[in-house]
Amino acid sequence: MLSSSPAPLEDDPGMTGDRVQAPKGTSDLLPPFGGRMEALESAFAVMARLYGYQRIITPTFEHTEVFLRLGEATDVVRKEMYSFSDKGDRAITLRPEGTAPVVRAFVEHGVAKREPLPWKVFYGGPFFRYENPQKGRTREFRQVGVEALGDPHPDLDAEVIDLAMSFLRSVGSGELDLLVNSMGDSVCRPGFVRIFSEFLSDHADDLCAECRERISTNPLRALDCKACREVTEHAPRFVDHLCDECRAHFGAVREGLAALGWDARVEPRLVRGLDYYTRTTFEVQSPALDAAQNALGGGGRYDYLVGEFGGEPEPAMGFALGCDRTLAAGAGIDGERQIEASVVDVAESGAGRALLAELRRAGIAADAAGRGRSFRSQMRACERRGVPIAVIVGPDEEARGAAAIKDLRTGTQIEVPRAELVQQVKGLLS
Ligand code: AMP
Repeated sequence: MLSSSPAPLEDDPGMTGDRVQAPKGTSDLLPPFGGRMEALESAFAVMARLYGYQRIITPTFEHTEVFLRLGEATDVVRKEMYSFSDKGDRAITLRPEGTAPVVRAFVEHGVAKREPLPWKVFYGGPFFRYENPQKGRTREFRQVGVEALGDPHPDLDAEVIDLAMSFLRSVGSGELDLLVNSMGDSVCRPGFVRIFSEFLSDHADDLCAECRERISTNPLRALDCKACREVTEHAPRFVDHLCDECRAHFGAVREGLAALGWDARVEPRLVRGLDYYTRTTFEVQSPALDAAQNALGGGGRYDYLVGEFGGEPEPAMGFALGCDRTLAAGAGIDGERQIEASVVDVAESGAGRALLAELRRAGIAADAAGRGRSFRSQMRACERRGVPIAVIVGPDEEARGAAAIKDLRTGTQIEVPRAELVQQVKGLLS
């Protein structure tokens, strides 16, 4: 068994007795929330394409090995993977994030040799982490994100961050805080890690047990630890120890963001849970959410990851946004279409069925008011659903080759020949 495998599922009561219920940490998006989620993801696709990204769809599960390449010290790899052995005894993990599968696909399909770079792709869908479920943190959640592979220029970093911010703005996610940092590169990081771990060693007594352990494994992750905030507040800052090239890159990213109108705050503690970042990292937070789970998403540059997957090294940059939290932050998006016309059928001869089909084929959202029920009950159903138009057909209308249209907003009713029905309903709806 891999050291990173999650604990067994003993904390999940599963199904008890006759009660059917969803697994722990998952949720049902009942209407209208399912539609809101879909609309959010569609809006992201529109925005990503505006920036030159194309859709990629990778499997929802991968060989566990794929995610181990993110670095064993990465939190999502160490603690949060939803892993299991399949019937062929393969170590499988439900994808906890989107970058590793994209990089795996980039290398596997030799994209660098076949396509012009940068290769710009976007994705969206379900992701899985074996976490202790709490507000804003579930075992299945949805993300949208982009990855751009093969471009080292700082303008790419600014573009990627601009896309994340513009999208969140466009869907009305409320007030947003943009935090940026630089994690340096292979030139300056070893030196800074040394300085930083010396600092942690000097303050070891004040650190939590996990961070004491991190001093020798992955000291920078102590910056992420809420329990050790007081210590790390006074720690040396990476942004003060960058090599010349990383400093210039970070300066250019900040300049680019300012030119695009984004007010980015440098947060020297922003290392993010993933281990593979080089140079730029960023996070977008929503002050409307609880402080512990207020990150809507973030990302950064990962110039060495393609190499870790066995490809020719290619510099790259990406981000992922949590859709559930974006909606919770107040994204004012609505995906459902209201029914525009209800067919009240008291002819019982198939006339209502034909009218309904005609309305729908003409692009009018229509439904039956209440098949087989009384006229009064069907009219009441129209009111309860707030439908603007009722199309009524009874034996008399049918005999005359007509239908009645009642505008429920005004109470006005007219009778029209069947041939004019669609045009009249459209007129009333426009
Ligand atoms: P990360 O890949 O950890 O940076 O996650 C990016 C974003 O995905 C976060 O800022 C959250 O909005 C969302 N996210 C990550 N993990 C979860 C989770 N367990 N439940 C809900 N949303 C999550």
